Amino acid sequence: MSDGRALAREYLEQQKLLGGDSVILPDGATPGLRPGSVGPPENAARTPGASPGKTEGRSAQADSALPPLGLSYDPPGGDLFSNDPVPQAASLEAIAGLVASCTKCRLCEARRHTVPGEGPPEARLVVVGEGPGRVEDDTGRPFVGPAGELLTKILGAIELPRERVFICNVVKCRPPENRLPQFDEIAACIPYLFRQIEIVKPKVILAMGGTAAQTLLNTKQSLGALRNQVHRFRGIPLIVTYHPAALLRNPNWKKPTWDDVRIARRLIG
Ligand code: SF4
Repeated sequence: MSDGRALAREYLEQQKLLGGDSVILPDGATPGLRPGSVGPPENAARTPGASPGKTEGRSAQADSALPPLGLSYDPPGGDLFSNDPVPQAASLEAIAGLVASCTKCRLCEARRHTVPGEGPPEARLVVVGEGPGRVEDDTGRPFVGPAGELLTKILGAIELPRERVFICNVVKCRPPENRLPQFDEIAACIPYLFRQIEIVKPKVILAMGGTAAQTLLNTKQSLGALRNQVHRFRGIPLIVTYHPAALLRNPNWKKPTWDDVRIARRLIG
């Protein structure tokens, strides 16, 4: 099987997991079917009394384990004829270079280092937080310090070494006194994040904290209302969960966070 065909099959399997219809490939195989089976899994084992119409095209496994579909947000892509270098940046390094000299908002005034994000361009998971804190501003790296150590542990628990994940924030410079980034600061900075996601093309996005979730889904809904659903950002499944810094303040949120990251893990495959 060619790489292209393998990628297409992987994509179709993920869509099926999310509730899409089965697709029969020209070689006769259908994503989600075991070799040798003769029909969709739902036909082989349907719960007695269940409505066929409701479960058509959806695996029993997906029904039992994945939360419902949520919001879908497709912000416009870059304009080919624009002179703006951000949508034209060809690599994560190019974006980091643009961020390093950026003065588009007031957060440039007190920063020690810009924190563009880190991780491989082929990462299957992109983690998005709110903005750099003091240690991140000191080092130029995202999610370091106690919250970063907790994130590393969370990723390790789902067998994703931190080095294989692209980790970044909504704003790339530290808000003074760790205040929330303001609307105009987010608006100035968000093209960098959008371009990073375009370049990485992850299988799943994990939005940690209300700012990341609300920004990526273009909504004012609370984090509590956005959890436990499979949203989409430009078609990419997006899971919302608590920020590790919030978990350090409130250990009761560890269990729901664990539930959320396991959903993300299932979607990554
Ligand atoms: S926060 Fe973003 S938009 Fe503002 S100065 Fe830093 S890189 Fe530029």
